[in-house]
Parts: sequence; C-alpha cells; structure tokens
Amino acid sequence: MEGKKDLRNKKASPSSKDILKSNMCDKHKFTEDDCQEIQRRLLKWYDEEQRTLPWRTIAKTEVDQNVRGYAVWVSEVMLQQTQVATVIPYFNKWMEKWPTVQALAKANVEEVLQAWAGLGYYSRGRRLHEGAKIIVEKLNGQIPNTVPNLIKLIPGIGPYSASAIASIAFQKSVGVVDGNVIRVLSRMRVIGAPVSEANVRDHLWELANKLVSKERPMDFNQALMELGATICMPQNPNCTTCTVNDYCKAYCMTKTAPKIGKMDSFLKKKSVESVDYKKEECVIDIENVIGCNFCLPSSVWNDNPQVIAFPCKAEKKAARQENVGVLVIEKGDQFLMVRRPEKGLLAGLWEFPCAILPDVTTSIERSQIIESAVKELGVPSSTLSCKKFVGEVIHLFSHIHATYVVEHLVLDSSVKIKSSKKEVMWVTLEEIKTAAVSTAMKKVLALVKKLETKPVKQVAKKKRKHSPENHKQVSIKSFFV
Ligand code: SF4
Repeated sequence: MEGKKDLRNKKASPSSKDILKSNMCDKHKFTEDDCQEIQRRLLKWYDEEQRTLPWRTIAKTEVDQNVRGYAVWVSEVMLQQTQVATVIPYFNKWMEKWPTVQALAKANVEEVLQAWAGLGYYSRGRRLHEGAKIIVEKLNGQIPNTVPNLIKLIPGIGPYSASAIASIAFQKSVGVVDGNVIRVLSRMRVIGAPVSEANVRDHLWELANKLVSKERPMDFNQALMELGATICMPQNPNCTTCTVNDYCKAYCMTKTAPKIGKMDSFLKKKSVESVDYKKEECVIDIENVIGCNFCLPSSVWNDNPQVIAFPCKAEKKAARQENVGVLVIEKGDQFLMVRRPEKGLLAGLWEFPCAILPDVTTSIERSQIIESAVKELGVPSSTLSCKKFVGEVIHLFSHIHATYVVEHLVLDSSVKIKSSKKEVMWVTLEEIKTAAVSTAMKKVLALVKKLETKPVKQVAKKKRKHSPENHKQVSIKSFFV
C-alpha cells in the first residue's frame, strides 16, 4: 500500500499479446492449485497479523456503502507516494472534518489544500475535491461501485484506485496491482522483464485477477499489499517467515544459487539499461520456454542471485536542480504571500515572493531577479535596498532538488503596497501555520525566525573573542618564561 503508484493498465495490442503468451514459461503463471493454497495461507496470515488501520476499520464496520467507498477512496489517494504512518493522522482529521462525500463537495478548495498541507503532491487533494463535486452534482451523491464506472465517471481515478475501492469497499472480486503487489508477484513468479513495459504490467494484472479470492476479495487484496509492505520489502525481505515462501519461485531459486554472502554484491547489480532483455540468455531452468520475454537474463541473476533481483525496474531519473530566490517581506506582525498558479507544482498554494534563478547567478543578478518579481507585487523599489540575505533552504520534491536562496525585508508600517495583478495577502505567523502553505515555505520561514534572534548573540561572542582585551598576542618567548 505504501508508496504506491497508480499504474495505468495500458494494453498491449492483442496480436503482440498472443505472441508473448505463447512464448511464456509456465513458471510465470499460477495454477488453480497455486491460487487456492496461496489464498488460504495469505488470508490466515492476514487474519492473525494485519495492522489495525482507520480506513480498514471503516471498510469493515461501516454499514453505509457510500461512506465505505468514500473512506477507501480518501485513504487510497492519501497513500499514493506516502507512508501509512504519515497518512493516519491526516486521514483521521479529514474524515472528522468531511465524513461524507457530500461534506467534501461543499468545502472550498482553500480548506482542502489547508487540510492537505504537509502531505505533498497537492494535486491529489484537488482531485479528491473535484471528484466529490462530480459525484454529488452528476451521480446523485452515489460513488460508483464497479471498476469500469469508477474509471469512467470520476476523473483522477485510475485502474489501481478503482480496483482497490471496488474490492475493499464493495467486495468486488477484482485484483489490485500497486507497487507492493508488483514486488510480491514478480518475486513469486520470477518475472524479470522491466515492469515499465506494458505487456509486463498486463501480465501482472492478469495474475492479480486470477489470484484474488472470490469469497474475500477485500481481505485478500489487503493481505497481498500487507505482505509487500511488511514482509516482502524492497531491500530486506523476510523470506524465512513468509507464509507463501514455498510458492515463491525467486526464493526457491536462491536456495540453489551460489552464495554471494556480501551486501556489496548488491551494488554490482546491473543497470537495467545495460541489459538487452530480448537477446540475453535467461536464467537456466528446465521449465524455460525459448524466447520467453518475462525471464530474468542470466547475467543479471548471476551478478545478484537474490530475491531482490525482482522486480526489474528502470533506474530512476536523477532529480533536477533548481535554485529559487525567495524574499520574506514582513510588516508589523504580518508577512506578504502570493498565490501560486492554478496548474503545475504546488498549484494554488501560498508562498513568499519567489523567482526561479538561472543556473549561474551572481548575488547581484540574484538580487535583481527577485527585486523585479517583488516590484510586480506593488512593493516600492525604494524599500528593497534594506533586504538582507538570510541563508539557504534545501527542499526535495520527487523530481526537483530545490535550493531556496532566502532574503528578508522588514518594512515600516507606513509603507503602502500598490495593487498587484497577482493574488496576494498579508498573514500572521499563526495564520501561516494553518494556511495552504507548502512545507518548503514553512522551512524558509523557520530559517528567518531562527536567525532573527541568533546573530546578535553570535556576533557578541565573536567580538569578545577577538577583542584586544581578551585576545592578547602571546609570544613564543613567553612559553619559556
Ligand atoms: S518468499 Fe520472500 S521474496 Fe518470496 S514472496 Fe515471500 S518475502 Fe517475498
């Protein structure tokens, strides 16, 4: 469940799919017997070991199916790219504030973004809100209860979320494929082709749909995701305690593989780009079908004969570096904030006046760029010479490594700000805490507040240290005296 991505189930063309299937080793599939035994064991394990989570409790105990569907939907959206422990308090507060889809539809987007502040990926909160409005305005307040209708009628719900809502809230017998399930299934069925390929994802969906329990789809899907989150983890899977380990082909392969012993060997794992999956020989096995496109190339396995060789993922693109100039403008007990554009990163959130800095910028150029951005907001240019450099704040987004170069300007209360084309507002420190302000901006403010009081002490200390009275020069001769 954690860190899941809503993978689009893009279909390969039927002809290429048929060819691929005829060339697939049986080890990449489940037999009926496999399915029955895996279901039995996983459900038993889940009944004994499952974590108590608020959305699970609602899905199990709530009699109103619309509330069940809504709670599962909220939890699934929050859990995308976010850990369970982080989501729990946000989910509880959200459900307290908006316990039904109707209540959420009535909220304004500002409140929704405020409630989302700190969870990141704010577009998820907006999508939930937009979806709730559509359900109330166009679907008579009823959440669709099948996968096709969820995908078709609610923008922003993809195949994964739809399957999770349909199976967990409405007991529909459909499989789910999130990051945890991809890992478990790839290991159990030794699928060694890159999961970024459409035919591999199609096959994983087929496996999940075949494996799901017809009697207890809600529990089974959660059990499979729970296994991925707590036992079959990306780097340190706990195979010896895994309830389905003798149905796991990757684990069985490790028993006959030469021992590599050291963790360093993991580092030798080949980069996916360096392997030609179509040409390389696959891991030698009597079950192999010649030309199977799902086997792991033997060179990859030989370098790293561990279950963590599965699934095969393309290497992540490195995050791009971005430098941003930011000017914190303070007047009395208030700060000037500007609303970000409605689209793109941190859409619609409030921030201190910012400007992206080109790669190579001198401090003078940096000042000029931020000054022209601030003048557009109606701040008189005569005041800008008083701004002071405060420091830098680093914030990591999933695809951007941002460095905020922070300056601070304290305005006299008599200074008047002209009207601006952009949406601006003055807010107090208290208001910023609950406003729709990103974590990066809260870090910037924390730096300004921290340094507002500190430098005086530091300078005083340093002065004492270097003052002539305290720091008389000692000659070498004096040591011998
Ligand atoms: S045996 Fe290990 S690799 Fe296989 S499913 Fe269980 S935890 Fe995952």
